[in-house]
Amino acid sequence: MGTGRLTVDLDALAANWRALDGKTACETAAVVKADGYGLGAEKVARALARAGARRFFVAVAEEGAALRQALGPNAEICVFSGHMRGDTDMIADLGLVPMINTVGQLTRHLEALPGHPFGLQLDTGMNRLGLELPEWAAVAELALSRDPVLVMSHLACADDPDHPMNRQQLDQFHLMTDGIAVPRSLAATGGILLGPEYHFDVTRPGIGLYGGRPFDAARPVAHLDLPVIQLRDVEPGETVGYGNTWTATRQTRLATVAAGYADGIHRILSNQGRLWADDRPVPVVGRVSMDLITADVTDLAEVPGALTLLGPQQGVDAIADLAGTIGYEVLTGLGTRYQRHYHGG
Ligand SMILES: *Cc1c(COP(=O)(O)O)cnc(C)c1O
Repeated sequence: MGTGRLTVDLDALAANWRALDGKTACETAAVVKADGYGLGAEKVARALARAGARRFFVAVAEEGAALRQALGPNAEICVFSGHMRGDTDMIADLGLVPMINTVGQLTRHLEALPGHPFGLQLDTGMNRLGLELPEWAAVAELALSRDPVLVMSHLACADDPDHPMNRQQLDQFHLMTDGIAVPRSLAATGGILLGPEYHFDVTRPGIGLYGGRPFDAARPVAHLDLPVIQLRDVEPGETVGYGNTWTATRQTRLATVAAGYADGIHRILSNQGRLWADDRPVPVVGRVSMDLITADVTDLAEVPGALTLLGPQQGVDAIADLAGTIGYEVLTGLGTRYQRHYHGG
């Protein structure tokens, strides 16, 4: 096969959901936006439903529509972007639950779909989505009279347990929601790990399900193996790849593997990244190009048919650290050329 093989371990995914669920006494939902963090929303969501998740969150209504097909009529599918103009039919026909963000969305929802379930998103300081305190004060009575299914907010700094913003947002969430009879949700993965004060009635983990920080105990879910297309031996002084950025200083055996920046492997890994032959690292040498990566396999007694980029040896956060980004971006950037295999579930 000429393309990389992306294996998604659905058993590890389910184990991660159960592990996060086990940290709280409340309901654990699952965030499957951006195609299940790049790993395939439909397969991922079905595996999570089998593990016990009943409520799913997506970013936009279109994602909710695809998910409804995969999950059938009983799952609750909530949409973070709320009730956008043009989404009314989709929300109604597919039974999606918009998380209302603005007074305009609230008006649109109550006028277009009276009696259709909705939730409310409040801003507690992140300044991204949700009603701010004065808006909430103005519409809370009306909104609460229409029986919202959930009131939620989102933490800006939950990946840093010592950040004072966590406490500020928790206090603000209490100020805005104490005394209401609606289920509440504040915590994503990071918030779950901050402890029970942050859990309320529903948690919304995403990245931890997929094996990323800050859930350090997560099992890796994405495995990426790149087939070796060609081996060659180069002499000291020969150069490799675009721009001649790497020069052999010894007799070197090179492997050229089938993946590149078009597959989401950041070009900044040129001359810095590592691939793995089981438990042995091999350095990326030369530039990562669009479709190809070259690695120095001189020290391997035997070169396998494929080298591993993502796996137990090297997770999404290790790649992210090298690339100056976060595991979320590594996962959601994984390209469309891989052969995708689903394991377990
Ligand atoms: C993406 C997102 C989540 C999930 O966050 P993780 O850090 O991936 O666990 C939860 N809530 C909201 C509002 C989000 O946008």
